[in-house]
Amino acid sequence: MTNSQLLHIAKDFGSPVYVYDAEKITSQYNRLTNAFKGVKKLKVNYAVKALSNISVLKLLKTLGSGIDTVSIQEVNLGLAAGFKPEQIIFTPNGVSLAEIEEASKLGVQINIDNLSILEQFGTKYPETPVCIRINPHVMAGGNSNISVGHIDSKFGISIHQIPHLLRIVENTKMTINGIHMHTGSDILDIDVFLYASEILFETAKQFKNLEFIDFGSGFKVPYKEGDIETNIEELGKKLSERFNNFCKDYGKELTLAFEPGKFLVSEAGTFLTQVNVVKQTTSTVFAQVDSGFNHLIRPMLYGSHHDIINISNPNGRERFYTVVGYICETDTFGNNRRIKEINEGDILAFKNAGAYCFSMSSNYNSRYRPAEVLWHNKKAHLIRKRETFDDILKNQVEIDFEKTKAPILAK
Ligand SMILES: *Cc1c(COP(=O)(O)O)cnc(C)c1O
Repeated sequence: MTNSQLLHIAKDFGSPVYVYDAEKITSQYNRLTNAFKGVKKLKVNYAVKALSNISVLKLLKTLGSGIDTVSIQEVNLGLAAGFKPEQIIFTPNGVSLAEIEEASKLGVQINIDNLSILEQFGTKYPETPVCIRINPHVMAGGNSNISVGHIDSKFGISIHQIPHLLRIVENTKMTINGIHMHTGSDILDIDVFLYASEILFETAKQFKNLEFIDFGSGFKVPYKEGDIETNIEELGKKLSERFNNFCKDYGKELTLAFEPGKFLVSEAGTFLTQVNVVKQTTSTVFAQVDSGFNHLIRPMLYGSHHDIINISNPNGRERFYTVVGYICETDTFGNNRRIKEINEGDILAFKNAGAYCFSMSSNYNSRYRPAEVLWHNKKAHLIRKRETFDDILKNQVEIDFEKTKAPILAK
């Protein structure tokens, strides 16, 4: 998308606003499926939590994607977007048996990640095939908050517990139809990914009724110039070949599944904010925008880098700025960034704002969550209205203290 298209969107829809480029989502989807075209049965299940707008889900549905969900609400959102239950996999962590039962009754594929629930579910519903989430204990990412396959992680069933798992399967007579891992975001090295895959293959051999193997996600996308990106094409070539060989040995054509979030939507997103104040201090120049970590928390939560561009003054000279928000909290988006000279009123664009940005936003400081716009076929489509004051009050219950003479609790 061009600067002028983005500026028009900020003008037409107001600021702050999230903009998603449907073409970029489409090209990323095609890139992934092309990389694995050597595999007969490929299933891409988009991880809804990255960006859960229903229009984005519908777009992915038209591309042929299924979805990966982590809550019963995401399951219902997927159904509302028109996905069939068999296009949905439910991969929760630490949820109640009741929630898993509810999803299972809707007909979605269940993925269980602990032995306690596996035993309870298998005892109650031995006829419902389930997938199991394995923790291969591989440290795939850089940051331990987003690497979920290592030894201390709360995710998955340890490979060291496979004997116990097999006993549960045998005792309950349940069927394991899929085996899954998700080693967390930001895989830098495809050899690490392939190494974890070997552990998954080794485990898979011990289950006789598999229909699919799900390799999760964690593909890294570039956040700044010179960033390493997962080489999907190379991974596709190597893993496809290995997968096909595995299927030959296994004696059955299995489905290879992935569940990417970031890879599909991160780069498609841009977050537009307006500069309220340029504030010179003794040590830096702050550019304060009409947003904060209530709208985009990744820099403060994970130390993530989002490129920031002044689209109102693309030809200005570069200066150093610390870009911060307007909430009453330290909400730094970027420190000492080289940005084209900023004037109050300028629109700043935050890149890579498709994944884990809007979906992690909140009403902190009683601010409205931003609008969302999908750029599709050279047109801007509003896909979520900006909140209004009614949204702030919605669900709050007021007590009329004038009428309530006695203390509430004493009644
Ligand atoms: C979050 C999540 C994903 C998506 O991860 P990305 O890094 O966004 O690709 C995939 N699978 C599971 C189980 C997840 O929890």
